Amino acid sequence: MRLKLYNTETREKEEVVAKHANQIRMYTCGPTIYAFAHIGNFRTYVFEDLLRRTLQFFGFSVEQAMNLTDIDDKTIRGAIAKKIALNAYTEPYRIAFFEDMKTLSIQPVEHYPAATAYIPEMIHLIEILLKKGFAYKGDRGSIYYKIKQFPSYGRLSHLALEDLKVNASGANEADEYDKENASDFVLWKAYDPECDHHIYWESPFGRGRPGWHIECSAMAMKLLGASIDIHCGGIDNLFPHHENEIAQSEGCTGCRFVRYWVHVEHLLVDHKKMSKSLGNFYTLRDLLHKGYTGQEVRYLLLSTHYRTQLNFQMAGLDAARSSLQRIGDLIQRLREIRTFSAADYATGPLERAALLFKTALADDLNISSALAALFDLVRELNALCDEQKLGVQEAGKALELFKQWDAVLAVLPLQAPEEAPEEVRALLEKREEARRQKNFSVSDAMRDALLARGYLIEDTPQGARLKKR
Ligand code: AMP
Ligand code: ZN
Repeated sequence: MRLKLYNTETREKEEVVAKHANQIRMYTCGPTIYAFAHIGNFRTYVFEDLLRRTLQFFGFSVEQAMNLTDIDDKTIRGAIAKKIALNAYTEPYRIAFFEDMKTLSIQPVEHYPAATAYIPEMIHLIEILLKKGFAYKGDRGSIYYKIKQFPSYGRLSHLALEDLKVNASGANEADEYDKENASDFVLWKAYDPECDHHIYWESPFGRGRPGWHIECSAMAMKLLGASIDIHCGGIDNLFPHHENEIAQSEGCTGCRFVRYWVHVEHLLVDHKKMSKSLGNFYTLRDLLHKGYTGQEVRYLLLSTHYRTQLNFQMAGLDAARSSLQRIGDLIQRLREIRTFSAADYATGPLERAALLFKTALADDLNISSALAALFDLVRELNALCDEQKLGVQEAGKALELFKQWDAVLAVLPLQAPEEAPEEVRALLEKREEARRQKNFSVSDAMRDALLARGYLIEDTPQGARLKKR
């Protein structure tokens, strides 16, 4: 079975074929480390992790780079306000970012380049662009990309050059007067002592700092080569950031920069994009403080297809919790089966579910159908358990399938629960004994004592078991 992905550039679902043997080279635009990332950012990173794991599930190996934007207006402003070095300002947010990624079970990738470590590579690209006539120096010393020189500019975002009213650089007004064309964007921003204080780099074009777009082109090509397979980001990166990355990279090398462009729709709050500037955001830490787990947040973020907007609500996290609980309860039930079944009732449903799950992922990561296959199987296996038709061997096969799926989802409650303490197990034993003797006042008292210690009793056909509240 072949994996297909929706390519923003061609607007088609295309079969994924790696350029180099079976190895996919993937670049994902990472966080600007000037504050804690919000869960809108993490929707994009959780999807990119799902994509990475899906590629592995389909037999590819993946070499991935996710950049850390540590040079931009916001990091510089923050460092200047605190009167500290740029890396002293960004370091705590870099550390927090990796902690959050771990809490969300996001697989570490091969490269996490920070812009500050790739200045010579950026300067080198700008020199080539100047030499080839794709760039020019403005009167105030900044270097700009001349988008008229790149005829296919707009091919990713499907915008015609003459319709481009939007300022492709996001530069401030002072820069506007310095450019030949409003849509040209900055490659190297000349040093401005009033705004930049102690933060600048030396270059052949004078003191200054790189523009945001050249950062990604330089890091992607240095680490993954001139032509990479997949490039991802949130949908807001599509224009101008990714369009500019193409113009810069292809302007330098003359060869195709990216073969598959993949963009993630936004996480919304009250139907508006979750963002720092609107102040309508939650960090992962906010949700952990409210008592939710990383697993629950991950489940919520990945369970809506990536090309559909997702409106965030706390109720969504409660629903994620009960979905995971339902899967966890079945997994626990499967683990407790000790008997053999006379006939094999499970292999049929297991094989069907495995095929449906993989087929769904192959179709541009159709996560809703993949999860539907999973929950149908949960229902079928629960029914077999109720009828005592599931033996230890079939239960083992089911657990194996959940494990395989979890290599992709990284969210299933597969860790064996901690054993309850001795004292708690003794209370359960007393309660069982009281029930056998029909001494219900004692059994109720034991139940209450367990509740007070944070344990619920579940009576199953295999006997009573403890569940942590
Ligand atoms: P930034 O730190 O603003 O550069 O954003 C880092 C990544 O998060 C980029 O790929 C953005 O497109 C993505 N992103 C930002 N806000 C959202 C959101 N509300 N939903 C999904 N992705 C987002
Ligand atoms: Zn980028």
